[in-house]
Parts: sequence; C-alpha cells; structure tokens
Amino acid sequence: MNVAELPGMDRLLPALEGLAPAYLVGGAVRDLLLGADSVDLDVALEGDALAAAWELAERLGGLATTHERFGTATVRADDLVVDLAGTRRERYSAPGALPDVEPAPLLDDLARRDFTVNAMAVGLTGADLGVLHDPHGGNDDLKAGRVRVLHPRSFVDDPTRLLRAVRYETRFGFRMDPETERLAREAVGAGALGTVSGPRVRDELLDLLGETDAPSALARARELGIDRGLHPALDADPELAAAGALGAAETGADRRLAALAALVSRAPDELEPWLDTLALGRGDRMRVAAAARQGPSLVRALRADPPPSAVHALLRCEPAETLAVALAHGAPAAPIHRFLADLRDVHLEITGDDLVAEGVPESPAIGHALDETLRMKLDGRVSGREDELRTALQIARGHVE
Ligand code: ATP
Repeated sequence: MNVAELPGMDRLLPALEGLAPAYLVGGAVRDLLLGADSVDLDVALEGDALAAAWELAERLGGLATTHERFGTATVRADDLVVDLAGTRRERYSAPGALPDVEPAPLLDDLARRDFTVNAMAVGLTGADLGVLHDPHGGNDDLKAGRVRVLHPRSFVDDPTRLLRAVRYETRFGFRMDPETERLAREAVGAGALGTVSGPRVRDELLDLLGETDAPSALARARELGIDRGLHPALDADPELAAAGALGAAETGADRRLAALAALVSRAPDELEPWLDTLALGRGDRMRVAAAARQGPSLVRALRADPPPSAVHALLRCEPAETLAVALAHGAPAAPIHRFLADLRDVHLEITGDDLVAEGVPESPAIGHALDETLRMKLDGRVSGREDELRTALQIARGHVE
C-alpha cells in the first residue's frame, strides 16, 4: 500500500528510521483501504513507545506528550500529529473490566482488537514499508461490508464493542456477519452491558450519538436490545433522537448531549441515576439533566402563545439543549427561534446606577424596577433610553405597579 503518499509521511517516515519496527494501525488502515486521502497517524511500535516518542520529537523538532501509565505518547511537530503506542497483548481478568496489558509482538496487538476491519496494520519501516498485515481477513470483510469479531468471547470481554459494532455498521453501511450478530444478542441477553463502567459507556455512547446517522444507529441498538441492556428504562427511540438532532442544529446545542437528553427525557426519574454513572463533566451533566426535565415541560407553556417577555423568562436560563429537546417533543418553533434570534440579546440601556443617580436609594426596588422595565421593553411597551429611565423611576418610586 502506498502509505508514503499520505500527508505527513514525508516527514514521519525518515524520522522513524532506525527505531523499532513501526506500523500504521487500527482505524487508520481501515480508512485508508476505504479510500481516505488522509488518516489519523496511529502508529504502533514493537518496542518502547515512550523512548521512541522522545526521539521522534527530537528528530522532527516537535514536542512529545507521554502517558506513562498507558505506555502511549503523542508527538506534535507543526501540523504533524502522531499517536504512538507499544504493541501489546491484553488479558481480561473479569468481563467488562479493563484488561491487563503487557508488551507483545504486532500479531498479538492485532488479535486484541475489536473487529477484523480494525485489526490490520501497514508497515512503516525498512523492507516492511507499505506491507499490509491482515491476519484476520479484515480486508475481505471491508470489501464485503462485514463487521466481524475476532473471537467468540469478544463482546463478553468488552461489551462496549456492542456499541462500536453498531456505530461502524451505521457509519459505513456495514452489517455484522450472522455469527457476530448472534454473539452480540447472546451477550446482551446475558446482561454483559451491566459489567461495564459508566465512563466507558459514556465515551462509546456519545461517539454513537455523534454519528451523522445516529438515529439509524439507535434503531439498530434498540433492535439488538442494547438500550435496555444499558438501563431497563432506556428506549433508543430513533425518531426522538432524530428530532433532537434537528433541534440541536436549530438551537446551536451540542448534538450528542441533546440526543442523550432527549433519550433521558422519556423517563427522567428512572434515568437520572444512570446518567450520573456516566460521569459526564459537571457542566455537561447539568445541561443534559436540565434539558431532559425542562424540555418536555416547555412544550405546553410555549403552545399557550405567551408574550415575548414570558418566552424570555421561560428560556433565558436554559441551556440550548433544553430548547432542542423541547423542539424534539413538539414545541412550537416560532417562539424558540424568536428567542434565539432576538429576545435573548435584549438588554436595557440603563443600569441601577442611573436610578441611584436620580436619587433612588439603593434597595431591592431597583432590581425590581429594572426587571419590570425589561419585561415591558420585551413586549414593546417601552423603547429608548429616556423611556426606560422614566418607566424604571416610576416603578422604583412605587408610582406604577
Ligand atoms: P474512529 O475513531 O474512526 O471511530 P478508530 O478505529 O480510530 O475509529 P478508536 O476508538 O480511536 O477508533 O480506536 C482505535 C483502534 O483501537 C480501533 O481501530 C481498534 O483497533 C482498537 N480499539 C478501540 N476500542 C477497542 C475496544 N473496545 N476493543 C478492542 N479494540 C479496540
């Protein structure tokens, strides 16, 4: 294979000379065989990846970031980014747990991978340059559009592969081969997904929800029972997710978080504890939980055709994901669009200082007067600085209720 033509290889290949045997691995090889012009430079080395990373950084005039615990590193030199890992063997001491890892030759490294299409390598060094290593028939499966596990225990060892299988099926229009699908159903039926930690589910689930055709992926996950396997109350409703994604595009929400919130919104009481196990960042967790709870309840309020000030009051503290979920549940689009395009940026031209300067004593009455004036401005009953000041003063002095 002509890896030398890939962007960045003109610098990387000479810099690898004399180091341990190195290979392009995983999704990069898959994407290359599928015709991609550029791929992530995921490189596996049969040797000490950290030492190689320092050496590479030196030779390329770049910087190495190492993750000692995982034996991996990233080298950056200008626009060149190379991820390095030592080839390794993995053993699963318990289903769903992280594996024990030890250095091993390339063939072991390929054998620990999820699917045949991801278990190929291309040599980057010496006489091996451009040689495809495909011990599991990955290239044939790629041509046939097949997602196939490497051994029968694969989904039990690591049930996140169930989500990954569905993701690849959807992204590439592939299908699991009958035996892989049987093993998938068997693993789901045996409760395999219950053995995986929340954060590992989170990473794969968010990746799945980030796929362009996430609704199809959810339909497939539902058909395989993956949703119920994650939590009995989780229903991977593809239509709701599609509406959530559309809502996200309209509101500027994060598509993955909006889709997750839409799924949680079906049964927030039951699903919030599960959401907590995913250990999203604090901000993301709050956005998803708020959207799941508030999104559906906004539908009724917005259908009642509230005045602009009420729309503003309803929506101003909500994250964009709440608006996306509200749209997904059938909220009228017009007030939401108006809020985003216009209302949310409406501010008074005056501040509390202007009222103090006019002799109003500092007190909560000032805040109340400003809020009321803003409300009137939103509804078109006040306009311009003078009008604002006059109205706010009247309210603050108790002349207007
Ligand atoms: P993409 O990022 O485009 O989805 P990728 O193949 O690069 O595809 P990553 O999640 O970055 O996906 O993983 C890199 C490689 O690591 C995979 O190609 C696969 O070989 C291996 N891999 C990742 N996750 C697992 C897993 N759970 N079990 C076994 N191998 C895995």
